[in-house]
Amino acid sequence: MTPFTYARARDAGDALRLGGAAGAKYLGGGTNLVDLMRETIERPGTLVDVTGLSSEIEELDDGSLLIGGATRNTALAAHRAVRTRYPVLSRAIIAGASAQIRNMATVGGNILQRTRCTYFYDDEGSRCNKRNPGQGCDAAEGFNRIHAILGASQSCVATHPSDMCVALASLGAVVHLRSAQGERTVELTELHRLPEDHPEIETLLAPGELITAIELPALAFSARSTYRKVRDRSSYAFALISVAGAIELDGDTVKDVRIALGGVAHKPWRAWKAEAALKGQPATPENFRAAAEAELADARALRDNGFKIELAKRTMVATLTELTEMKA
Ligand code: SF4
Repeated sequence: MTPFTYARARDAGDALRLGGAAGAKYLGGGTNLVDLMRETIERPGTLVDVTGLSSEIEELDDGSLLIGGATRNTALAAHRAVRTRYPVLSRAIIAGASAQIRNMATVGGNILQRTRCTYFYDDEGSRCNKRNPGQGCDAAEGFNRIHAILGASQSCVATHPSDMCVALASLGAVVHLRSAQGERTVELTELHRLPEDHPEIETLLAPGELITAIELPALAFSARSTYRKVRDRSSYAFALISVAGAIELDGDTVKDVRIALGGVAHKPWRAWKAEAALKGQPATPENFRAAAEAELADARALRDNGFKIELAKRTMVATLTELTEMKA
């Protein structure tokens, strides 16, 4: 591990002051960043501990939830309003990682965790454009069973590993950011980038910009929501495919629907095409399949991950079917 200095931020202003230094990184629970530091893939000069910042979960008058960026994953999944009004989020968090990691990991850190592409972590033996821009990508022609089927580029075929972010994408979450220039909000679906020619740039965060909170808008039908994760073993594994969904039915017709996919792309993937195909249509397995086909029409398989295209479609159909069978 490369030597670094450590500072604990008293508040957001203090964090920004400390985080503005060249080579500084914000530290949440450290469940990904410290691993990357041990491998010398990340070499921050200063770690700014932001776990003392807001970990409140506020229920606002308009029905939305405001979640502090330092909220631990366990606390968020267990919160009464999340379990009852946004069960998709609670289930997604519980599906991710071990209990010990969830106890440590913060919401802000979860959003900013980095890919688990094995070539990215192999800094002595593999070429990786994300780790060393311009070096090449050994995953593209290598063993790429877990890699992306949507939105990839020749530069990078990695996936985003977060389960929580898939649920947040389906719920229309908004990320609150603060920097020396002031405050702004960004849709979660816009925060992460597709790789294009610069996979080393993963979000639209500016240097030193801090995630202060996540806002979950009120959504009338989000109580009828769920998360389905397909993985190689039953616990503590990243998603091959995951689906977050919520549905509003008017009789047997889909009045509104939210769908997001995990394990498919460099970012949490909101299934806009599938949603558009389903709205106003009868909630039938045939229409669910047609919506899944529409969403995956642009999917591209690598050498080892062609199975993920059909798996994504089937997982979408299963999730939507489960939602229609839930009590409203
Ligand atoms: Fe690196 Fe992306 Fe290629 Fe993995 S897929 S080796 S992260 S460039």
